[in-house]
Amino acid sequence: MIYEGTLYRPPSEARSLIVQVTIGCSHNGCRFCTMYKTKQFRIRPLDEIKQDFLEAKERYGNQIAKIFLADGDALVLPANTLQELLLYIHDLFPYAKSITSYGTPKDILRHSVRDLSRLHEAGLTMVYMGAESGDAKILKQINKGVSREKIIAAGQKLKEAHIQSSITLISGLGGKEYLQEHALESAELISQIKPDYLGFLTLMLEPGAPILQDIKEEKLHLLEPDDIIMEMELFLKHVDTEKTIFRANHASNYMTLKGTLNQDIPALLKQLEITKKRGAFRHEDWRRL
Ligand code: SF4
Repeated sequence: MIYEGTLYRPPSEARSLIVQVTIGCSHNGCRFCTMYKTKQFRIRPLDEIKQDFLEAKERYGNQIAKIFLADGDALVLPANTLQELLLYIHDLFPYAKSITSYGTPKDILRHSVRDLSRLHEAGLTMVYMGAESGDAKILKQINKGVSREKIIAAGQKLKEAHIQSSITLISGLGGKEYLQEHALESAELISQIKPDYLGFLTLMLEPGAPILQDIKEEKLHLLEPDDIIMEMELFLKHVDTEKTIFRANHASNYMTLKGTLNQDIPALLKQLEITKKRGAFRHEDWRRL
């Protein structure tokens, strides 16, 4: 099996078979993100990808329960190619419970609902979509390359095609300047999408992230753990999405939060209050991307 460069995957795919369908991310322009900066974006040839799955089958047999298609946006593939690949994977691993991938809003919108439904029928169970923020100013500031309206449309399109969605937001992305807007507009975005899963990371910047320039020029002031709690409280008090599984359990987070929205919002707010009172935050040195 061939792997190129560093691999990234969602926390919930820790035990999955990971195969790179693309190398890097086709957008590769978000100003906080350094994940694929060293990779020149390309789609791997289908034969090469199939060969990796074949080798995984020979090595691991029916032990494979979950499959994740890397790198940044497998949905950039034409629907027919992706459908052929999904059917091939299903033949090799008929007992696998899930096949998932990252998907940018633009790539999701490029496919018709019919095509997405075909992909779902061929085995694509869930797409992880990075929304990062629901605030238009912040999306522009980070060069997300897509509007909040398109992010909402992409999330709703997945739902229409019966593909589960897992949306990622980033705590602290608006800094002290846009704390309120980030919390409130993100709550509104999630209320409109009503995803199956919602995951929060907390902003952590690696050397080389273009957004560091904003911090140097004092246009962006990073949040302290207490501010992150305030932002999360605001978010939870305004979001409305029944049965969304909520997780803030990434290594970058100052605290771990888990629950189901809306039913667990009071318990999550209580947990935030206790964490704040005790100052029980993950130490800066223990945070990781
Ligand atoms: S955050 Fe996602 S879409 Fe943006 S550059 Fe990084 S991998 Fe690409």
